[in-house]
Formats: sequence, structure tokens, C-alpha cells
Amino acid sequence: MTTEELVDFDVALEKYDPVLGFEVHVELNTKTKMFSDAPNAFGDEPNTNVTPVDLGLPGVLPVVNKTAVEYSILIGLALNCQIAEKCGFARKNYFYPDTPKNFQTSQYDDPIAHDGWLDIELEDGEVFRVEIERAHMEEDAGKLTHMGGAAGRIQGADYSLVDYNRAGVPLVEIVTKPIVGAGARAPELARAYVAAIREIVKNLGVSDARMERGNVRCDANVSLMPKGAEKFGTRTETKNVNSLRAVEHAVRFEIERHAAVLDSGQKIVQETRHWHEDTRSTTSGRPKSDADDYRYFPEPDLVPIVTTADWIEQLRSRLPEPPAERRKRLKAEWGYADKEFRDVVNAGVLDEIEATIAAGATAAVARKWWMGEIARLAKAADKEITEVGVTPETIVEIDQLIQGKNINDKIARQVLEYVLAGEGTPSQIVEQRSLAIVNDDAALGKAVDDAIAAMPDVVEKIKGGKMQAIGALMGPVMKATRGQADAGRVRELVMEKLGL
Ligand code: ADP
Ligand code: MG
Repeated sequence: MTTEELVDFDVALEKYDPVLGFEVHVELNTKTKMFSDAPNAFGDEPNTNVTPVDLGLPGVLPVVNKTAVEYSILIGLALNCQIAEKCGFARKNYFYPDTPKNFQTSQYDDPIAHDGWLDIELEDGEVFRVEIERAHMEEDAGKLTHMGGAAGRIQGADYSLVDYNRAGVPLVEIVTKPIVGAGARAPELARAYVAAIREIVKNLGVSDARMERGNVRCDANVSLMPKGAEKFGTRTETKNVNSLRAVEHAVRFEIERHAAVLDSGQKIVQETRHWHEDTRSTTSGRPKSDADDYRYFPEPDLVPIVTTADWIEQLRSRLPEPPAERRKRLKAEWGYADKEFRDVVNAGVLDEIEATIAAGATAAVARKWWMGEIARLAKAADKEITEVGVTPETIVEIDQLIQGKNINDKIARQVLEYVLAGEGTPSQIVEQRSLAIVNDDAALGKAVDDAIAAMPDVVEKIKGGKMQAIGALMGPVMKATRGQADAGRVRELVMEKLGL
């Protein structure tokens, strides 16, 4: 791998305007494949989910999966696209062992959806509109695994294995128009765009949308032009950047690299690039012109798809509330401040908070737990907040124990840990472990007497009017009651006993 010269990001942005373009592939979660009745399933034994159609054996005839078409239309509608009245499939010819037919069945000049847009909300709340060029249907290729070489790459491998379970899985490829004007926010926009697509297809229920499984895959196109210019520069296409972080870093890296090449008076080569997570850099792939000759021709074995207005309207009525609108609605309903809400969104716990409120908590209590103690537990265990395993019902029950003055905040946090350790429900744990707050005066009175006797200097201060000094007595009292003293009652008792 060659180490490339880079120009510092901010310096690059002083001189150049970046132009972006994204091709996002979404695997649909239909039961069967795009053109065959083989199961569309992840993680099965290799080469078990294949039929003669997926293998392109002689004499087979493909049949279009109607659900996949409906899912594609739903995606198009969610991206504010026009839906084609009539469209078809073409053969995109290329020879590679992951595609046993030697062509990919794809849409070419008549995509099912075209000319849409999506408003992308950046982290500070600014909204950036991305124009959608097209969303077309196609099929996925099989999966090659290269053995014996370094890091699973074909270079240096001894042999390669192929699994055709993925061959023929329905895909929708969403292509943006060139995105101009993002400036220094290009990397952030790249990440936010892919996150928005992932969120939309997940919300539609048309894809599992798990990037780590390749359900959503992004090719990121980047070019630079001198600041203020109108003619776009030459682009590179970084392939398969398959995490949100990688998309952001890849765009940033390419901007820094393009600037270095251009500054040195050289030209950018239009090519594909490979992303390397370990070095956070890209390397050259294959040259790629705008008119690579795939010898597209209409697929003779499939009839065109005709979409009637009735069908489209019926699908439109199935659209769920768009994620961005839902956020707007929830923010208003919950009454969170801008920053509070943004933090909740960035932490990815909207669903959890909504469910906790539905289970009976107030919006403030739900936020307190998810953004506080549960976030802390997640961080300590190096997990996602949603993986900690806390249920909305647990939070509501713990909160009721706090409101009923059965436990205090500190004990509540312990109770949560015991729940996660599988000891039972919060009430059972408080009962079994005798964690209820001590507020009966007999027990508290003794602890307060002992503290007063042990700290005459503190008592002097309190008598002298320094009421904060009561805090110093709280420590021994809490210790004597294993942290279960009712702090308010302790304060009252101290005052009583000192005659104040
Ligand atoms: P290809 O088949 O070459 O990948 P596509 O049309 O599928 O072409 O995708 C190209 C992507 O790159 C689109 O999102 C397009 O808007 C974007 N794009 C085109 N020209 C430029 C450019 N000069 N700089 C950055 N992005 C570009
Ligand atoms: Mg493309």
C-alpha cells in the first residue's frame, strides 16, 4: 500500500469545494429472492439457498418477486420520488465468479423510482436537502471468500470459496444527484445521509438494515473543484464503505487526498477506491469511466412492470410516519430542550424512551434513566445502550419505588444492577435485600444520636447557624443504615435533637 500525501482538511476546504454522490445498496428482507423462490436468508450453510434460476442454469426462467417490487416502490415514495408507470429489467453483462449467470439482472434506463429528495438533519439541527437521482431494483451477487492471503484479500490468496446464497437477493440501489455546497460538512453529511437511508428502510420494514451484515452498503463518490467553480472535478468512487463511521472517514480522507493531488499539479484519476478501516485510508481499485461497457440489453425473459395509480396509492397509504417527522412530534410531546432532544437522538434511545413513557413514566424520568444510569452501565460494559437489557417496565417500577419513598436514587441504581443480574423485579429485590429506606424514627434516632455524639465540632457549627454542616452528619448516619436513611427525615431529626 502506498502512503499518499494528504492536505490538512481545513486547508483543503479553504481552496476547494467538494462535490459528493452516494450509491447506497439496500438488501430487501423479502422471504424469497428477486427472481426465484429460493429463501432470502442470512447466515445459512453456504450454497443451500439456491435454485437453478439463481445459478443461471440453461432453460430457467426468472419470475419477478412482487413483494420486492412493492418494497422498492415504498422506498421510492419515502424518498419523495416519482414512480415509473412502466419499467423493466436489463442484463448488465460482466464476468466474475460471484455472478454465475455472467450478468446481473438490473434496471437500466427505466428505474422504478426517480427524481426524489431527502432532507438530512445534521447534528446541530441544520437541514440539508439531498436530491435523489434514482432508485432501481437489481439482484445481489454471491459472496467470495479468499483463503490463505492477508486480511481476506484476493491478492496473495491460495484459493477462493463462493457462496451463492446471496446471489439473487433483492436489492434497491439509491443514487443521489451530485451534492454541492456541503463544504466542510461533507463528511458529516455523508454519515448523516447514509444513517437517514438506513433509518428509512428500517422504519418501512423493507430491510433489516444491518450495516455489519451488508444489508446497507455505500459507495461514496467525491470530487473537488476550485472554490467558486461550477464545473465539477473528476470523481473517485470509494466502494463498500460499510459503517457510518467509515463513510464519514472515507469522504474526509478522499478530500484530503484529492487536494494533495490537485495542489501538486496532477490530475485525479477516475477510478474506484478501496477503503481500509485499519489505516483509515483508501487505495486505488480499478479505473472506471462514466461509460463502462456492460453491454446492457433488455432482459428478454421478464415482462415489463406496470404500476397502476391505484396500486401506488394503496402502497402510499401503508407508509409509516417518516422518522424526521416522528422526531419533531416526539420532541414537542416530551417537552425536551433542543440539546436534550439531540442528545437523546444521538444516543439512539428514542424508541426506548417512547416505550418507557408508554409504560407509565414521565418524559423527564425516562430521559433521566436512559441518558444517565443506563448510559453509564452501557459505557462501563462497552455495549450499546439498547444492549444493556433494561426494560421500560423495570424503569417504571423503580421510579414508583422512588416516588413512594421506598428507596432513594442511590439505592435505585443498586436495584437496577440487581435486576440486570437476574435477581428479580425491583420490588422483589427491595424486599429480599431489605433495601427499603429507613424512616422509622426508632432506627434513625439511634444513628443520629451516635453521629451527634461522635462529631461535637460539627454540632457546634450547626448550632452557630451553619446549616450546611448537617451534611457532615449525614455520612455516618447513612453508613449506619447502609445508605438507606431517608435524608429529609434525618435532617429533621438533627434539628429536633439540637433544639433548632
Ligand atoms: P457509476 O455507475 O459510475 O457508479 P452512478 O450514476 O451509479 O455511476 O453513480 C455516480 C454517483 O456519483 C452519483 O451519485 C452522482 O451524483 C455522483 N457524481 C457524478 N459526478 C460527480 C462528481 N464529479 N463528483 C462527485 N460525485 C459525482
Ligand atoms: Mg453505480
